[in-house]
Amino acid sequence: MAVRKLPAPSPRLGRWVLTLPSFLAGLFTLGLGIFLVYTIYSDRLNRSAQMEQDLLWQKQALQLQMGNTRHELESLAATLAANGLTSADFTARTLSLIQNTPELISLAYVDETGQTRWRTPLAPPDNEIPLSHRNLVAQRAAVLLNDEQIYSPPITDTSAGPVIALTSPVKLPFEGRHFLIAQFDLNRLLSQQVPWWIGQRYQISLLRADGSVLASKFDRRQDAAKLAQQIDLDIGPENLRLQARVYRETGTWKQNAMLGALVGLSLLMLVSTWVMRRHIRERQKTEALLRRETAMRMAMEDSLITGTRVMDLEGRLTYVNRAFCDMTGYSAEELLNHEQIMPYWPPDALETCLAINRRILAGETDSSGFQCTFQRRNGERFDVRIYAARLVDGEGQHIGWISSIYDITELQREREALQASHERFVTVLNGLDAAVVVSDAVSGELLLSNRQYQYEFNLPVQHERCCVIPFLPREQTAALPAEWFDDFAQRWYQIKTRPSIWVDGSLVWLEILTDITALKDAQQREQQQNEQLQQTSRLISMGEMASSLAHELNQPLAAIASYATGCRNLLGQAEPNLRQLDQAIEKMAEQAKRAGLIIRGIREFVQRRAPHRSACAMDQLLATVQVLLAAHVKKSNVKLHLDCDPLLPPVFADPVMLEQVLFNLMKNAIEAMHETPANQRQLQVLVARRDEMLQVTIADRGAGISAEQLEQLFKAFYTTKSTGMGMGLNICRSIIEHHHGRLWVEANPGGGTRFHFTVPLSEDSHAREP
Ligand code: ADP
Repeated sequence: MAVRKLPAPSPRLGRWVLTLPSFLAGLFTLGLGIFLVYTIYSDRLNRSAQMEQDLLWQKQALQLQMGNTRHELESLAATLAANGLTSADFTARTLSLIQNTPELISLAYVDETGQTRWRTPLAPPDNEIPLSHRNLVAQRAAVLLNDEQIYSPPITDTSAGPVIALTSPVKLPFEGRHFLIAQFDLNRLLSQQVPWWIGQRYQISLLRADGSVLASKFDRRQDAAKLAQQIDLDIGPENLRLQARVYRETGTWKQNAMLGALVGLSLLMLVSTWVMRRHIRERQKTEALLRRETAMRMAMEDSLITGTRVMDLEGRLTYVNRAFCDMTGYSAEELLNHEQIMPYWPPDALETCLAINRRILAGETDSSGFQCTFQRRNGERFDVRIYAARLVDGEGQHIGWISSIYDITELQREREALQASHERFVTVLNGLDAAVVVSDAVSGELLLSNRQYQYEFNLPVQHERCCVIPFLPREQTAALPAEWFDDFAQRWYQIKTRPSIWVDGSLVWLEILTDITALKDAQQREQQQNEQLQQTSRLISMGEMASSLAHELNQPLAAIASYATGCRNLLGQAEPNLRQLDQAIEKMAEQAKRAGLIIRGIREFVQRRAPHRSACAMDQLLATVQVLLAAHVKKSNVKLHLDCDPLLPPVFADPVMLEQVLFNLMKNAIEAMHETPANQRQLQVLVARRDEMLQVTIADRGAGISAEQLEQLFKAFYTTKSTGMGMGLNICRSIIEHHHGRLWVEANPGGGTRFHFTVPLSEDSHAREP
């Protein structure tokens, strides 16, 4: 691959590389400094020692010179004292002395009064001190006193140079004391007695004890340095001191300049090392950043699942990423610098791949990419989509083409699977008998519908925007009615509707319309049959009880007949008793009314009519049923106990239907007690209020109902009776459930069975809903 990981230098080595030059530069500068200081110091030490030696030597030389002169003068004084000299001798001898002793300015032979007898030179030189000078006078007095040679203090207050005088006593045997006064010019002493090699090195001075300079010998071209040494000089009355001060060395400025240059260079080196170090540091930082970024880029490139390849302008591969290598199964080395035919091009698709390559090189970078098939090293094929773009370098130069390669095999597989799944879905959807439709909850736009929907509502297959159910106005939030009758097609539809979220996140309605016309018809037919059955059941019940009813009817009819006979007899009398006649007729009317009631009850009971619910009192319903069953009860020898409070609220029900329920249950109860001993045949009817309901309980002491029977009991046509139809209980449950009540059965404690049912009270507003 083209991008190589940058090698990271060892951090320890990096630190050393950074520190070592600075350290060495510092060390070098320090060493140089120490060397210079040491050199200067040792030079100073050497010079100081040399100066000490030279000074000592000079001191000795001066003292020796002065000592010699002193001895000469002493000897001259002694000769003078012995009076062995003439004036000419004196002059000759002193001239010779002065010539040999240049520092000696003059010699004067003075008597005790201070009068000069002889002198050399004859004319006093400019720098000579007059003998009348107080110092010299005082000196002579001191010589007289001590009778020995005495040096005067240096005399500097005259125009002449610093001078010292040596006064020697001339001890005349008889004439007292004369004096030999010699004057020395100190400047000349130094200029004569300091040799050239000392004079070249040092500025030599004579100092008073207080340090003030009396005389010096120095080279005017040279400057004196600070380095100086002094030494006491045993000449004269005062402690004169000899001082040597070294000259500044002539080559010093060069040395200093060189030294400065050296130090400067060292400092420059130090600074440049420091700058270099900073530079290296910044460079290292930048390199670290670069390394991090490169590593990051490499990590990114390596973790990409998209293949990336770069071709130069000739179509040579110059870069491939790991994903591309993984995709094709070839290593980067195998792929790079490949020209024209790539190893991952399938042999039979070379032309296609080549054409795509040519198009890319020609700059035809299709935004939707190119699709083709590649081949892995192991021969496996895979579909790819290639997106190419111009590759431009940092200077804006077009250097090649970069392509992103996506392995779309899986995608296509998924797409195909999705397509297949969609087709399956559409097939299932279109295979449904129900019409399915999805519509936008806001606009009502039809988003999806199946074939059944289009067929049912006769819509074109290529449906456009359209209302959902063509004949119903669609509202945003309201659900459609559960059942809908299409007036146009004269068909019933059951509509299941629920809100849902569509693929784009919008709110939609999903509706399933099932054609329930057939079901509705069946329901209608069933209802009709049911009604017929109920009527049949009522007819059968009446038929079964026909003999009892006939007997029941027979009684009022027989009574009417006997009353009619009685009336006739009365009318046959001469004076018929009208009152009795009236009573008999009234009785007849009563009996006729009773018979009429029985007949009307039977007719109403048997009559087929549509259910009609109203508020009805349970006690009255029971009274009617009691009349209908009265003969049956009597015949079966059953004791009937009715417990119904007339103050109970009315129920909301169809009275005839409820009468049929009461009739069926009571009739069953009576029939169940056929085998019961006569004295135990008790039929109890109990009515009580349970919340918003009235509960009616019909309890008998019959044979009871077995567990197996319980399961069958309410099924149609289940009967244990030879003449039974098996519809009674089934109809009862339908009627009670139609009235939103409940019918159930249980064993009667103490033997027999208990049937209960509930019916809503008429006050219940909900129960009034049809
Ligand atoms: P049918 O009276 O025509 O048989 P029903 O549906 O009224 O039809 O009753 C079905 C059966 O339930 C009866 O045949 C009877 O065996 C049983 N049955 C009904 N009421 C009672 C009861 N009170 N005690 C015992 N068995 C009963």
